[in-house]
Amino acid sequence: MAKDTLSIDETRDMMVAVAKAIIEAEPILTDADRALGDGDHGVGMERGMNAVLEAIEGEEFPNVGKVFMSVGMAMMSSMGGASGAVFGTLFRAGGKAIKDSDTLGGAEAATFFKEGTDNVMSRGGAKPGDKTMVDALMPAAERGAEVADQPVSEALAAIAEAAAAGRDASEAMIATMGRAKTLGEKSIGKPDAGAVSVAIIAKTMADFAAA
Ligand code: ADP
Ligand code: MG
Repeated sequence: MAKDTLSIDETRDMMVAVAKAIIEAEPILTDADRALGDGDHGVGMERGMNAVLEAIEGEEFPNVGKVFMSVGMAMMSSMGGASGAVFGTLFRAGGKAIKDSDTLGGAEAATFFKEGTDNVMSRGGAKPGDKTMVDALMPAAERGAEVADQPVSEALAAIAEAAAAGRDASEAMIATMGRAKTLGEKSIGKPDAGAVSVAIIAKTMADFAAA
């Protein structure tokens, strides 16, 4: 049954599903970063998500925001590198914005993506079009604002669709941030690895809420 809202425990279980999906996608993420970066994104995300599982599986949380904040802390402290900081920021800042809520509805999902994206951009300095995870996050955040009044299952489905479209759109972009920027026009034709991760995260959240 598709859900109006997720409880704190359901939100935690959703993020357990996200961690497992990213671990399973390690070869895909490795290939994506090998094409444009240094090839360590898959292994870094796998390490981060194993730390997430250790931090949240079976744990009790006081609110839904704290679930995401714990995900962000685990990623930040275990991954290192550019993506440890940016993914850590996404989950910590997004979670902090909904730390007064004991359910995850469409509105909380929208706020999570909006605040998370804003903080990734202000701290990391990437703008839309730089061919980073921001190119999947920004459309997800914008779509979230349009569907915030909907049940969480509907809102997350729309957000995940927008993130996937953003990932696809990153293929045509020339990298101007991070390691891939030295490739210039050679970066055209492949999606950004971080955007691939964001699309998997959003899709797994949506699938969990729809189940
Ligand atoms: P590293 O760049 O240290 O090798 P990863 O390979 O794990 O780290 O992650 C690379 C991804 O991180 C990129 O594909 C991009 O999406 C994201 N990224 C890197 N720097 C930034 C930034 N400043 N802002 C947003 N995303 C970034
Ligand atoms: Mg890398």
